[in-house]
Amino acid sequence: MKKLVLFLFISFTILLGKVEFSGDYHFKKVASNVYTLFGPIDEPNQHNKAFSNNPTIVIDKLGVILIDPSGSQVAGEYVLKEMKKITKLPVIAVFNTHIHGDHWLGNQAVIKHYPKVKIYAHPTMISRMPVDGPFWVEMMLKMTNGEVKGLKAVGPNNEVVNEQIIQVGSQSFKIHNPIIKSHTNTDIMIEHINSKTLIAADNLFVNRFGMFGEDASILGNIEAIKYAKNLNLENYIPGHGEPKNIHAGYQEYFTYLTLLYTKVKENYDEGVASYEIKNKILDSFTPYHKWIGFDIYFGKHIDKMYREIEENDI
Ligand SMILES: [Zn+2]
Repeated sequence: MKKLVLFLFISFTILLGKVEFSGDYHFKKVASNVYTLFGPIDEPNQHNKAFSNNPTIVIDKLGVILIDPSGSQVAGEYVLKEMKKITKLPVIAVFNTHIHGDHWLGNQAVIKHYPKVKIYAHPTMISRMPVDGPFWVEMMLKMTNGEVKGLKAVGPNNEVVNEQIIQVGSQSFKIHNPIIKSHTNTDIMIEHINSKTLIAADNLFVNRFGMFGEDASILGNIEAIKYAKNLNLENYIPGHGEPKNIHAGYQEYFTYLTLLYTKVKENYDEGVASYEIKNKILDSFTPYHKWIGFDIYFGKHIDKMYREIEENDI
């Protein structure tokens, strides 16, 4: 009988096309009225259904401000389900930190439940949406092996500028994009002024690597972290991974990127070719060997760093 019930349940679920993400990930309090859902550390795949980032909520009396509702409609539904365990209030504003789909494709679920919500983002992100939107939908379908079928690109609808203050209820947010090219050329870091918390998005990673595309600059990322650190805030939330110490959440990635710069520069100055550098410097990066994506990204980061040093001839 139990088997029959299970069979009927599975068949019914397939017929409805309903796919859910289930995992042991819950919002965690990081500051007064601020909670982060430190998500799965792997890249988007069929198991995590494109949930692989750190969505953050700020709770006001009027409702919830949601930052980066994750990477698919399925993942977005999970974020909302977990949010409801913390508060029954509606989502009243959303921020998208940058153009990479693992952060904003969950907008689809938010808009489904809260159609009038304002979604704030960098103007370059909004202007890139007609091309990058469909690209990321395709990419997520591929990475999840079709698990997020029905995914649509629902982009941001409100532009923000550097140092803009956005007031939502009694919560104040300050936008920071001090560098044109950092993780991408569409990044915003969001300061929640009330709790002195910086949602630094993919300018910070912990326990995982990410890509630096053509719209990125490693040197710019280093500068962005220095800037963030100089804000002297209480909490720093990375885009992926949970830092050991949230008060110094910038430290691990800053150390990695500056070490990368130092080692590549040394070798560049000695006339070592880019492709020869990896094996020579591998041992200096032992703490990072266990970070997710090391094998894929470390060589790419060296190449990118090398090109930036060459271009700037610094
Ligand atoms: Zn990301």
